[in-house]
Amino acid sequence: MTQDRSERLLNFIDGEFVANQTGETFDVVNPATGEVIYVVEQADEHIRSLAIESAKKAFQTWSYMSAIERSRILHKAVSLLHERTDHLARVETLDNGKPIQEAREVDVVTGADVLEFFASLAPTQTGQQQEVDGDFYYTRKEPLGVCAGIGAWNYPLQIACWKSAPALAVGNVMIFKPSEETPRGAVELARIFIDAGVPAGVFNVIQGDAEVGSWLTTSDEIEKVSFTGEVGTGRKVMESAASTLKDVTMELGGKSPLLVFDDADLDEAVSAAMLGNFFTQGEVCTNCTRVFVHDAIYDDFLARLKTRTEENIVAGDPLDTHTNFGALISKEHHKLVMDYIEKGKQEGARVLTGGEAFSPDGATSGFFVQPTVFVDCNDDMTICREEIFGPVMSVLRFSDEDEGIRRANDTPMGLAAGVMTKDIRRAHRVVHQLQAGICWVNSYGASPAEMPVGGYKLSGIGRENGVETLNQYTQTKSVYVGMVKLESPF
Ligand code: NDP
Repeated sequence: MTQDRSERLLNFIDGEFVANQTGETFDVVNPATGEVIYVVEQADEHIRSLAIESAKKAFQTWSYMSAIERSRILHKAVSLLHERTDHLARVETLDNGKPIQEAREVDVVTGADVLEFFASLAPTQTGQQQEVDGDFYYTRKEPLGVCAGIGAWNYPLQIACWKSAPALAVGNVMIFKPSEETPRGAVELARIFIDAGVPAGVFNVIQGDAEVGSWLTTSDEIEKVSFTGEVGTGRKVMESAASTLKDVTMELGGKSPLLVFDDADLDEAVSAAMLGNFFTQGEVCTNCTRVFVHDAIYDDFLARLKTRTEENIVAGDPLDTHTNFGALISKEHHKLVMDYIEKGKQEGARVLTGGEAFSPDGATSGFFVQPTVFVDCNDDMTICREEIFGPVMSVLRFSDEDEGIRRANDTPMGLAAGVMTKDIRRAHRVVHQLQAGICWVNSYGASPAEMPVGGYKLSGIGRENGVETLNQYTQTKSVYVGMVKLESPF
């Protein structure tokens, strides 16, 4: 690990670092200091064709390997992820600006868990068999071939794990493009795969901007694209993937609601709202940025929320283990979030706490925005309609269940939702009416490997994690076997 500006990160193809031919590079900035920490080589034509060539060759080995052998190798990779936790967490923190305590406890752990889950499922894949009129058919679950993974910058290592784990478990190979802002996590994973015994070329990492991503979506050598990013980019990815009829998985943005009913445990409700807005400094796709609070408890909820936000959030150098609130990903994103905050003020929302950019001790040049709570919001305000992807919570009042459900659903997105209540019947009645792919009851944000996650409406297509995800990385081959004499009119 180095922070030397002269460090040049190369594309990782066929088990090794490979130089491009154009010499084109881009900078990576540490969000907590604003300094360039290393440069990365953009994947040019040379790199792209090597990536495809090596992936296609690796597919011949990996897909023919027995499932139990693949499983064994992937389990070894899980052990290496755990062994290298400190290093991986540091990589994530330097690239992304999130607190190292989170990177260590959440990013690495949830990445490793998903790999362990799918590695364990690899040998469980079976087809079916049925007799029909004396003949029979059987089905085989076959891998798709070369898949592409395109990641966002908020959970670089975790996203690379979540995409590669189900793909590789069932015999596919993957070319992964991380976000330009966080290129390193996926490379660390690629090195772990090699050290664990995954054949070279099974997981290649190519680096670059939207143009490189766009190439992945149009290449006719690639069978599937699994994308994580914004709704607008997702639309473009799907459009270009259509040119070669690629299968797609889309994990997109959200504007998720949390409904806090009058019988909720108020401290837990405040915990849910804070976790769902301030974890990873608000850069989480499932965040409950619209917090609907019942009239009867509104004032009490706000008082507790204000106190805990002002007293318990520790911003600072993300490498300091006491820091629990980091820097936003970039200067541009910082401006975008600040523009939303200004818009919130202009449109009449009241700032309960926060609302400003700031420079915490230990990270005075970083891209920090205070944890911000807007109150007296209404549903039409820009801050209540558009994804901000920063630490900006909007609190709205509601007075009855049907109204709460209607307003919670009044968004074109449908990634997640939460309900806080002690009434078990109400909890399920409400959740069943919420238009969201991931719902939490008296909880918020947990995403275990076993649970499928993905969006309704504009928030996505397909799922990640959970057993059902394996179906998205296999295709069914039906084999009909004639056991009786073949009759023919000809
Ligand atoms: P973007 O959509 O900007 O970028 C995502 C990835 O796509 C990046 O690697 C980007 O490259 C690449 N890309 C950009 N343009 C194209 C293109 N035309 N074709 C192919 N690839 C392209 O998202 P962000 O990185 O800004 O991430 C934040 C977004 O991700 C938020 O909306 C968030 O909600 C969503 N997200 C969703 C999750 C989910 O599971 N539902 C989880 C995490 C985040 P580059 O960055 O180099 O330009």
